[in-house]
Amino acid sequence: MPHSLIDNHGRPVSYVRLAVTDRCNLRCFYCMPEEGIQYVPKPHLLTFEEMERAVRLLVEMGVDKVRITGGEPFVRRGIMGFLENISQLNGLRQINVTTNGVLTAPLLPDLQRIGIQSVNLSLDTLNRQRFFDITRRDEFANVWETFEGLQYYKIKTKINTVVMSGKNTDELIEMAELTRQYNVDVRFIEEMPFNGEAQHEYAELWNYKKILDKLQSQYPTIYKLPDPPASTSYNYQVPGYKGTIGIIAAFSRTFCGTCNRLRVTPQGGFRTCLYADNAFSLRDALRQNISDEEVKKYIYEAVQNRAKDGFEAEQRASRGAVSESMAAIGG
Ligand code: SAM
Ligand code: SF4
Repeated sequence: MPHSLIDNHGRPVSYVRLAVTDRCNLRCFYCMPEEGIQYVPKPHLLTFEEMERAVRLLVEMGVDKVRITGGEPFVRRGIMGFLENISQLNGLRQINVTTNGVLTAPLLPDLQRIGIQSVNLSLDTLNRQRFFDITRRDEFANVWETFEGLQYYKIKTKINTVVMSGKNTDELIEMAELTRQYNVDVRFIEEMPFNGEAQHEYAELWNYKKILDKLQSQYPTIYKLPDPPASTSYNYQVPGYKGTIGIIAAFSRTFCGTCNRLRVTPQGGFRTCLYADNAFSLRDALRQNISDEEVKKYIYEAVQNRAKDGFEAEQRASRGAVSESMAAIGG
């Protein structure tokens, strides 16, 4: 088995996004319905032992970066021990975490000690009432405490802001202004139809072009930064500001040509694209009495059958119009 993974389109694959749970303590309307969520029964979730084995095998195959996501990773009991364990893996260069920040502030010293390289904090507004309207929970103060803690501990921080037509588009400049005084990357993400229901009606389309127009009209001197390899964001900076501003064309899918990522869902579904069906059940493979080499063979074959982009993946997918919750895939 080769020690680096290259897909059938010649793209190196070195990054896995592992969703450790589908549970969450918020109910962001673009991600989950308010009620009636059918969580995955516990025995169907990967155990931490299974996740450790999966990460180890992927690292042996050439993955060097893991993002821990969910659901909300910190609602799963035992997560810190898991992070500690995978941090010992030789060859795993980076562990990053995406969190809503509700429970994260008290964990920051441990996250720093474990060596978590960066945290993506999801925050769509700086207004407490609006935070409640979007997430259906009154947790803004805890999330802000996490943001301040990340600054205090000097943990590299990205803020993920989903741009929601008619909901927070009047606040984009206020969010961008965080980069004036904070060393933070504020990234505006196009809303995708992964909300556990069906496509919302949009008052107007806020795609990456419109987001950029808005930023350029506010900051005429804003300039483009070079794109790091396999970057999903177009990155900009306002002269003299400490942080940077990114735009992620998640719905327009402009970045597929260099996509280097794989996904493992909370149930152990192995995906080679956000928009694809599971390529196979990694959980079932891990629960069969088979060798590491045999599990790696499943992974290798899935990587050799990747769609060339998110549009092809969506076309090939059996479920038709996207209606899954992002929490069940791992955003
Ligand atoms: N609970 C954690 C959090 O919110 O950061 C991690 C999981 S969440 C599914 C990961 C990311 O997906 C968040 O930044 C969230 O804003 C984003 N997300 C969820 N649903 C989305 C959607 N429909 N469109 C765009 N981004 C979405
Ligand atoms: Fe929870 Fe994150 Fe989804 Fe919001 S975006 S409901 S915080 S999983």
